[in-house]
Amino acid sequence: MGIIVSKFGGWANSSPENVRKSCDLFVDNKDRKIKINSAIGKIEGLPKVTDLLIEGTNEILKTGTFPKDIFEKIKQNHYFVFEPLGIKRAQIDEILSILEDYITKKDSLEEDHFRALIVGSGEELFSRLDAIYIREIRGINAQYVDPREIGHYLYGNPLGGKILDESYKNLSKLKEYDGVIIYPGFFAVDKAGLPMIYSRGGTDKTASDVAVAVQASLYENWKDVEGILASDPRVVKNPKMMSEVTYSEIRELSYISFNVLHQEAMLPVMKAGIPISLKGLINPNNQGTTILKNRKLDSNNPVIGIAHKENICFINIEKQLMNEEVGFAQRVLSIFREHQISIEQITTGIDSIGLVVDMNEFQEKQIYSGVAEGTRKKLYIDEFIKHLNKRLSSDNVQVRPNKALICVVGDGMRSHIGVLSRVTNALSKNNINVEVIDQGPSERNIIIGVDCCDDKDTAKKAVQFLYDEFFGKK
Ligand code: ASP
Repeated sequence: MGIIVSKFGGWANSSPENVRKSCDLFVDNKDRKIKINSAIGKIEGLPKVTDLLIEGTNEILKTGTFPKDIFEKIKQNHYFVFEPLGIKRAQIDEILSILEDYITKKDSLEEDHFRALIVGSGEELFSRLDAIYIREIRGINAQYVDPREIGHYLYGNPLGGKILDESYKNLSKLKEYDGVIIYPGFFAVDKAGLPMIYSRGGTDKTASDVAVAVQASLYENWKDVEGILASDPRVVKNPKMMSEVTYSEIRELSYISFNVLHQEAMLPVMKAGIPISLKGLINPNNQGTTILKNRKLDSNNPVIGIAHKENICFINIEKQLMNEEVGFAQRVLSIFREHQISIEQITTGIDSIGLVVDMNEFQEKQIYSGVAEGTRKKLYIDEFIKHLNKRLSSDNVQVRPNKALICVVGDGMRSHIGVLSRVTNALSKNNINVEVIDQGPSERNIIIGVDCCDDKDTAKKAVQFLYDEFFGKK
């Protein structure tokens, strides 16, 4: 078939049973050639290894010592997973001495590179032990491969690096290795060999970059959930599982709220046309969900999923003869840009323009602009609105908080007559007023905005009504 790249996240790596099951998958299917690992996730009573490493790094940078109790917890995590699998404590301690050694590098590295070295080490510790288990205990031909040796280079921010193009060529050499490759996610190095990591959750990124480099036939992502549901199960009872969904559909849903894969991780595999299979380790034989370029559309249902996002505000700007002022919209957008406020939707009238904004945009936030990264301070919305009004010499600017967006998505909606009327009918029948509406030019999504001032659950109810309309109860 081709090479399958399989990624195992923190949850999959946080119990001996899961690690054993993950290994079984490589016995069952010989096309599984590359196992990409996160660090150990949350174990009862203990935090995630990456979180412990972050805490320990903060402390050592402040006080000069890596706290003993944190190191002890990291050890306990590894004993918990690997001792029942037959790995001796002394062997585990030997691998953990790698972290001890890294801790001594504090004064020889710049702060962010030192952070990257320590924070990214959870993936290395786990993967080295996993390779010992797979090779020595299970007798499978397997080896640990280190990103530093193969030339997995990142550039930019040491704590949120991006892949350098030449890394793909270097990583493609993984195809030539014999047996199963155990490859740690999240960390790499820059061209000078200094420690780097991707941003948080970056093992998804490592796996997608490796999948592209080896031209994988499939990128598997093993999770604690069986696949992707058509709606949030906290809102809709027993939503249907998607068996297939396209990259574009999932992008639309993730943009609103679906948390499927590290957003940046999908783009390279999407460009390369590599299907992504999301599967649950609990029942590995279940089909799961495959994300791919094109899917067979269901002639009975044009919709694949319904997402929603609360805590939205509408900002309405009014100005007489706005439509005659060439460049007005650009001026509005540039003020939002200056303040690093991202806009969800824009609606227009002849003398008014409406912007839909997530309220979290006003909180302190991280800024990514090319390779440089910084923090934008919290903004006070009333002050921002006054400023907007003054800069635009507008007649009135109004903020209306407590709104929500609901996004109905499906490739089947394209050229399908009547979807919009079903959406609005399902809501009007249930007394829900649509305040804004937007259908993307791809005809793959319909976004509507509703008010939640009188009833904070309006958006959730609307999702349920729409779900019933397209998936269920008739
Ligand atoms: N361990 C890292 C984190 O928690 C990377 C990952 O799990 O993907 O962010």
